[in-house]
Amino acid sequence: MAVKIPSKKLVSSVISDILSKRKVVITLNELLYLVNKELKKQSFSYSISFNRLKKIVLLMPEIEVKTKKRLDRKRRTLKECPVCRKEIKKIFGKNVFGKRIHVGYRCGYCGYRADLNHTIPREYIFVLRK
Ligand SMILES: [Zn+2]
Repeated sequence: MAVKIPSKKLVSSVISDILSKRKVVITLNELLYLVNKELKKQSFSYSISFNRLKKIVLLMPEIEVKTKKRLDRKRRTLKECPVCRKEIKKIFGKNVFGKRIHVGYRCGYCGYRADLNHTIPREYIFVLRK
């Protein structure tokens, strides 16, 4: 049986529906399960992949993406955003002597920020903005 690819608009509306009922969906896997379940009600051959769902949900302005974080003990150099995998920029600040120092990272794409004792997100939490 052929798989039907649901449109981005349909997927977005299903995500909004789910979140308005549940308020918070803890993980992307859980969201994936719920979205697929909902899509199958509309057409049995609909299916969405983890990566496509992630791309769509991260770009929905009405959804706030929070991340459960754990402290990363080692300072590591970030080359890519841990949330959206785009290139990440370094943030510089000034220390007490007016010297420019590297203080953290910021993603210009999804808004992820981290200081140098940065935390790595482990799980996403999706919240529908009011
Ligand atoms: Zn990002």
